[in-house]
Amino acid sequence: MSRRDLRAPLSRREFLQLVATSAAVVTAGSACPGGVALPDWPFTLGVASGDPLADRVVIWTRLAPDPLALDGLGGMPDVTVPVWWEVAHDEAFRSIVRSGVAIAHPSLAHSVHVDVNGLEPDRWYFYRFHAAGHVSPVGRMRTFPRPDQAPALARFVTASCQHFASGYYTAHAAIAEEDLDFVAFLGDYIYESGGTGPVRSHVIGRVENLAGYRHRYALYKSDANLQAAHLLCPWIITWDDHEVANNYAGDFFDENATPPQLPFLELRAAAYQAWYEHQPVRVLPPKGSGDFRIYRGFDYGDLARILVLDTRQYRSDQDCGDVIGPDCATFPNPNGTMLGAAQEAWVFDRLDASQALWNVLAQQVVFSPTPIGALRNFDQWDGYPLARQRIVDFLVDAAIRNPVILTGDIHSAGAGWLPRDTTGLTGPLASEFVATGISSTFPEALAQLAKDIIEALPHVSFFDPFGRGYCRHELARDRWRTDFRVVSTTTQPVATVSTAASFVVEDGNPVPQPA
Ligand code: FE
Ligand code: CA
Repeated sequence: MSRRDLRAPLSRREFLQLVATSAAVVTAGSACPGGVALPDWPFTLGVASGDPLADRVVIWTRLAPDPLALDGLGGMPDVTVPVWWEVAHDEAFRSIVRSGVAIAHPSLAHSVHVDVNGLEPDRWYFYRFHAAGHVSPVGRMRTFPRPDQAPALARFVTASCQHFASGYYTAHAAIAEEDLDFVAFLGDYIYESGGTGPVRSHVIGRVENLAGYRHRYALYKSDANLQAAHLLCPWIITWDDHEVANNYAGDFFDENATPPQLPFLELRAAAYQAWYEHQPVRVLPPKGSGDFRIYRGFDYGDLARILVLDTRQYRSDQDCGDVIGPDCATFPNPNGTMLGAAQEAWVFDRLDASQALWNVLAQQVVFSPTPIGALRNFDQWDGYPLARQRIVDFLVDAAIRNPVILTGDIHSAGAGWLPRDTTGLTGPLASEFVATGISSTFPEALAQLAKDIIEALPHVSFFDPFGRGYCRHELARDRWRTDFRVVSTTTQPVATVSTAASFVVEDGNPVPQPA
């Protein structure tokens, strides 16, 4: 069904309510008495849901009748617009359970976030929006089970790294066909870099301001496959570096040594604001250029506690250069941190209090040691060994049940176990599953070498830098299963999907076994 087929006239009741709300907004200072006229369909960026709890889910849209307008404003007039939202049990919206009006503000690029509460746990719903006489596509969302419930199963996907110009989002078309409770997206939702890509034309510059970030999100979100994957189920989203700038660390940016137009903290603030404007997240909009807390937790009944981390905003600068190289004299930095003190304390607190069967850290960069001969990747946890050791020691001392680390970033699929002894590489402590890129690729010339070196490590079961796709996880009470899903192509718009490898983790044994 095309999105145009999803248009439907407003009911009389809805229309009257919208007009009444418009009038109230107009009286409050709008330049457009009598309501806002939007001749063109404003839901070009789709709809999305996210951050599911047992009684509430965030629903999102952004009004943008001209999504790729270069000023980043989406072709919207500089006025507030009332947006009517509805949540129903059925796709035809005969049985509506919640509805209301949200106001789309120009200051937030006419994005709308509604935290729809009062829902029943562990249940599917449908949602849609109406604005200025137009109707959005219909999205599907679900609540999580209550923490005191004991669900038999959870099915979800981890995905990351969707460089637009590097390939078509055939992996998102495949995700949209999966049977899932949620998607966890682990960063690099956009890439801020400029230039052209090998597959889809991308003749635009490096992002340098808020308008640029808004335009970049609109470009990415204009993809029909990405929109379809958002329609399927709620997403839990965190960011990595490319939502701001390649390999940035905290409030520090030195890549390429070319100063951006804005001071880095102002650039970061613009990036954070645009991220908020385009994602279905339960956080308040960022204020100024200070901290913007997005790390947060989710309980899927008693089956899984999922902690979604931010390994970018609070980290110390990378030692010895940003990526792969030999150790330098200052390594390891005794004050090196990946999470910052507050987030690290929060992780320990949430894990310590957990009653869950599986304790999941959903995060960005590879956690387990992956030495490349005498070299290491200083952007990963390998570059922050003392910070990693604190977490390893905590997992051991607190005897955390079934820790599982979910990772993105490196455009490669991987499975393995985190060793207690991070230099001797012995003592399985946690499982780690790395999702490959949706479309971002691993450097071709290095791929086979990287596979040979990393797969030879004793704690690595599987490493594949060649495939594009995602990880599909199925959690049962006594067993975790991960399927590495790969698409046949990203250089053509249509692909098939298959499973490249499957692993299971049994309750109490973190070593992934071939399924
Ligand atoms: Fe990436
Ligand atoms: Ca990254």
